[in-house]
Amino acid sequence: MAGAFSRILSARRSVGILSLVGAGSLTAGYLLARERRVGAAANVRRLYPASAEYPDLRKHNNCMASHLTPAVYARLCDKATPNGFTLDQAIQTGVDNPGHPFIKTVGMVAGDEESYEVFADLFDPVIKERHNGYDSRSMTHPTDLDASKIRSGVFDERYVLSSRVRTGRSIRGLSLPPACTRAERREVERVVVDALGGLRGELTGRYYSLTQMTEQEQQQLIDDHFLFDKPVSPLLTCAGMARDWPDARGIWHNNQKTFLIWINEEDHTRVISMEKGGNMKRVFERFCKGLKEVEKLIVEKGWEFMWNEHLGYVLTCPSNLGTGLRAGVHIKLPLMSKDPRFPKILDNLRLQKRGTGGVDTAAVGSTFDISNLDRLGQSEVQLVQTVIDGVNYLIECEKRLEKGQDIRVPPPISQFK
Ligand code: ADP
Ligand code: MG
Repeated sequence: MAGAFSRILSARRSVGILSLVGAGSLTAGYLLARERRVGAAANVRRLYPASAEYPDLRKHNNCMASHLTPAVYARLCDKATPNGFTLDQAIQTGVDNPGHPFIKTVGMVAGDEESYEVFADLFDPVIKERHNGYDSRSMTHPTDLDASKIRSGVFDERYVLSSRVRTGRSIRGLSLPPACTRAERREVERVVVDALGGLRGELTGRYYSLTQMTEQEQQQLIDDHFLFDKPVSPLLTCAGMARDWPDARGIWHNNQKTFLIWINEEDHTRVISMEKGGNMKRVFERFCKGLKEVEKLIVEKGWEFMWNEHLGYVLTCPSNLGTGLRAGVHIKLPLMSKDPRFPKILDNLRLQKRGTGGVDTAAVGSTFDISNLDRLGQSEVQLVQTVIDGVNYLIECEKRLEKGQDIRVPPPISQFK
């Protein structure tokens, strides 16, 4: 419970900060009532005993399945958050998807900010496993959006085709995509689009609603890697995130398509900076500048992001807690990727690989999406630096293999510096 109280206290401190910057009453009122609301978590009406409802997880390989014992299930299955989100809703995606062909999934989602408190007995061990030992009760998460601290960061463009940094942000007081009502989802869209109208300079742009796009326009944005894929992944649909599609979904982007905000996909918002080529430093600079600007505009409208000192920025999937940051490149590694040491090298450098079509796609040829593995317990600056150093190491290895020289598996880098 100590953890819960300190989180609520830190939320109270942010109410104090909010009143200084003149935030509206909605979020502040929500926060003041939060302790009472979490304490008053509802009970679920249940006809059968917990043991009769326990899911069959025998063939499962995801973090939820590793930690949801019958005892934990029995303790949590009758609880609900103040919005009515239940344990069964939180775990449904992990029950329906025993595994994933390319990554080890988390297997559960949050329906609102309070989910992480009410179901902490399950979320905490899942977070610990997914985030390499991070203890969400005792550890605190750092934020650092000072891009001037980045060293090097311009990659050899014979290998790196494009660079991208993204995060997610949730609007406090509104349910997350697995649980929001249609009205709440539309409210997220309204609040965010309204705020983004204040962006100026190179960030000036406009909103493109999915409901007003032609099928071809949408497909073009997907093919060009600007827009989220259609919600065909069972990970999304089983989590309830594709309900009412495409209602209140869309993409906001600046005129150059280098700063983009996805609305109501897996998170309320995803904030993305990207461009062709290898200038990760410039991409991160734009990311930091744009993100600070977006937060300022949201706060000016009387809203704020979900955040606490232990979990950092609160997002739908526990894998994205903390920074929510995924900094990555599309990179050609024809020789390295065939080397049997490639997976171990990536792991030791704390890097993850995906296909270039996104998380649910296999790699085509020898071009990969390489990004940071971690999100929580390290700052944005630290994670981007890890990607820069790691990608430079991969390029160096590729060049050595081209010359017929040997490569070395680097020692594992420590995670919490
Ligand atoms: P996210 O983790 O941001 O949701 P996904 O793996 O779901 O990312 O991919 C979303 C889209 O972003 C896909 O179209 C993918 O090709 C594109 N993308 C991801 N990284 C890069 C990159 N470095 N360069 C260009 N496009 C990228
Ligand atoms: Mg995605």
